[in-house]
Amino acid sequence: MCLTIPGKIKSINNGFAIVENGKRQDKVNIELISDPQIGDWVLHATNLAIHKINETEAREIIDLLEEKYPKVDTEKLPERFKEIIIKLKVKKEELTKDEIIYLLSLNESDVTETLYAEANTLRKDVLEDFVCIHGIIEFSNYCRNNCLYCGIRKDSKIKRYRMSKDEILEAIKTAVEDEGYKLIVLQSGEDYGYSDNDLLEIIREIKKQFRVFIFISVGERSGDFYRKARDAGASGSLFRFETSNEKIYQRLHPEHSFKERLACLQSQIDSKYYIASGGLIGLPGQTEKNLAEDLLLVKRLGIPMLSAGPYLKADETPLAKESEDMTEKLRLALNYIAVARLMMPNIKIPVTTALETLDNENGRHRGLLAGANALMFNITPAKYRDDYGIYDHKYIEREKVWQKYGLFKGEESWEMIEDKLKIE
Ligand code: SF4
Repeated sequence: MCLTIPGKIKSINNGFAIVENGKRQDKVNIELISDPQIGDWVLHATNLAIHKINETEAREIIDLLEEKYPKVDTEKLPERFKEIIIKLKVKKEELTKDEIIYLLSLNESDVTETLYAEANTLRKDVLEDFVCIHGIIEFSNYCRNNCLYCGIRKDSKIKRYRMSKDEILEAIKTAVEDEGYKLIVLQSGEDYGYSDNDLLEIIREIKKQFRVFIFISVGERSGDFYRKARDAGASGSLFRFETSNEKIYQRLHPEHSFKERLACLQSQIDSKYYIASGGLIGLPGQTEKNLAEDLLLVKRLGIPMLSAGPYLKADETPLAKESEDMTEKLRLALNYIAVARLMMPNIKIPVTTALETLDNENGRHRGLLAGANALMFNITPAKYRDDYGIYDHKYIEREKVWQKYGLFKGEESWEMIEDKLKIE
């Protein structure tokens, strides 16, 4: 389920067509297209046309990925910024911690927009327009923990739900068979209402019934559980370290151990999961230096997918009274995505729902144009969706237009995922 690109057929020759959309021209195989004609619009992956679409839809999609950076007078950019970009692009040297901190701190719009444009150019050079869509199912909002910032913490007086195995399978059936999802994230609070065996059974059953890659996001469980879940068919694990700073971690998770969290992450790396990890951006008391250290930890651990999003406060949590500057959070989150891309050109960076919450529909667009290359859509059944309130004002998705071209069925999209992500 990788985003395809629309193109209009310009010429046809021997099972191939030249397609173009005003920005790029590609030669694509058109064997899957019935009765292709010059002038038809098709959705295509790198070298394969998937299906026909009408012109209105094609224009809608082109608009989504349109790059809108303001014109910047490069003469006026700070010398230090220009030196860092040259160092990265021409000398191909790695960023130092001080340089990462400097880039994260940028706040003048001319400079930040140039930073995002540089990161986006690198994304396109390295990964082209390959963007993955993950479907996330939040199957339980029970949690045994009391993280100070989290809306579903144990002490929150919220309506709780726990989906049965059959409900989970039904939701995945709809996502996979009707909508074309191929990457599913099974997420819950740390809910021991499901034993290890219950979760293993759910994973096995999903793998038996559907052709789908499973990421699990179920919190701290034993190394033994993670090994067995890998054998049962889970390929990926979404497990944030939350912050690389032990003091901040202990303050926000008084009942937990930072060292145990990192040990749990390491056990998943050792079990050969495709790991999505990272931290929260903009926690109270967190500095750009702390965020730079988070990014350096992701790089040091060789994490293939960054899972990091802006911290947003939630009602009924001990941090609910802290003031919150949404514009500042958005700036920091976009800077973070762009710096992550510049530090780790091949890393997969999803736009989190929290970023969408900060900037509504535009959040997805801005995240992608700052260097992100994956999207997370919520596939939790509607009757439970509002109860998974990790933070307030959660963005209610308007993903139909993305789904139109991001999800398609067929062997080709499997091959693309296997090839690009090396997921088993
Ligand atoms: S952040 Fe995760 S572990 Fe902490 S309370 Fe929320 S759901 Fe539970």
